[in-house]
Amino acid sequence: MSNYGMIIDVGKCTGCYNCFLACRDEHYGNDFAPISAPQPFKGHFWMQIIERERGKYPKVKVSFIPKPCMHCDDPPCAKASVNGAIYKRQDGIVIVDPEKSVGQKEILSSCPHRVIFWNEEKNIPQKCTLCAHLLDQGWKEPRCVEACPTGALLFGDLGDPNSEISKVWSSEKVEALHPEFELNPRVKYIDLPKRFIAGTVLFKEKNECAENVKVTLAGGGKKQTVRTNNFGDFEFEGLDEGKEFGVKIEHPDYTPQSFKVQTKLDVYLGEIPLKRSSRK
Ligand code: SF4
Ligand code: SF4
Repeated sequence: MSNYGMIIDVGKCTGCYNCFLACRDEHYGNDFAPISAPQPFKGHFWMQIIERERGKYPKVKVSFIPKPCMHCDDPPCAKASVNGAIYKRQDGIVIVDPEKSVGQKEILSSCPHRVIFWNEEKNIPQKCTLCAHLLDQGWKEPRCVEACPTGALLFGDLGDPNSEISKVWSSEKVEALHPEFELNPRVKYIDLPKRFIAGTVLFKEKNECAENVKVTLAGGGKKQTVRTNNFGDFEFEGLDEGKEFGVKIEHPDYTPQSFKVQTKLDVYLGEIPLKRSSRK
């Protein structure tokens, strides 16, 4: 018996929506009883793509976070359902029974991830099944995983120590989308967007981009150093939210500059002109 899991690498996701479309193609109008009823034409996003805009002009980034059902090991949706309408299979997949769940609309609000959708016509709740009907026929992965052109979705058997997913699953870089829910999700993430601190360094008297200037970030017991690129830009990514960091900019011929920065939001320090040191 397999023990399924998925890891979503947000850093590899380009927001192309192929996974969403593959899910639509598989489930719209198709009945896979007793695992799932047909997905309706509108309003269902069994694989959602959350677009998160980060930073402010002129330093703006967009991250795309694919979000299916997390197939939690401790699912509140199953507890909220009546007559075992939602159950967890031995392989870890959480299923909404299309017959037993008729009329149970209150199930929608039991999921803190908000990944259950209401089918008005059939009067049932519905969500991602990880294409359990295909896995049961011997498929190795769901349609969304197969359709992803960048390899952002990794699916496999967590019970097999030699599977690719097993080798990555317990690494420090793998995390839950909402660890605070404490639901032991079977879908986890790499490279979830955190905070960044960036800036652009200039040589003031020449009014030109300052390339190859040393910039050091200190905070949270760690220190990182980068060099500005040929546009004078620097950036520190993946920083914890709500922390204080010190940024120091140094060049042997120029007066150093230091900043204290809070990462409540992403921070662009703007243009930072360096003045030539009077000692030189
Ligand atoms: S993410 Fe929501 S719907 Fe999916 S298993 Fe967890 S509680 Fe249930
Ligand atoms: S198919 Fe892959 S790259 Fe495209 S949106 Fe889905 S996860 Fe992202």
